[in-house]
Amino acid sequence: MEEQRPCLNKAEKGCEGPVEGRPSYAGTGTLIWRCTAHDNKAYEAAQETRTRYPDSSTPPGWFDPAAAGERWDDEY
Ligand SMILES: [Zn+2]
Repeated sequence: MEEQRPCLNKAEKGCEGPVEGRPSYAGTGTLIWRCTAHDNKAYEAAQETRTRYPDSSTPPGWFDPAAAGERWDDEY
C-alpha cells in the first residue's frame, strides 16, 4: 500500500509533478517529500550552499530552515 504525502513546499504554490520521497540534500539521510518542481529548487539551493560554505556547520544568516525543509546541522 502506497502512502500519499503532500509536498513539503506546497504552501509556496507552484507544485509540479508527482510528490516523491527523496533523501535530504543536506546529507542527513532524512527522506524529504517534494514534488518535482520544488525538488529542483531545493537541489539548486543545496548546490549553492555547498559552493559557498563547503565545510561549515554554522548556518549563514540567510539560511531559512522553513524554506529548505531541513535543519542545517543534524546531531543524529
Ligand atoms: Zn511542491
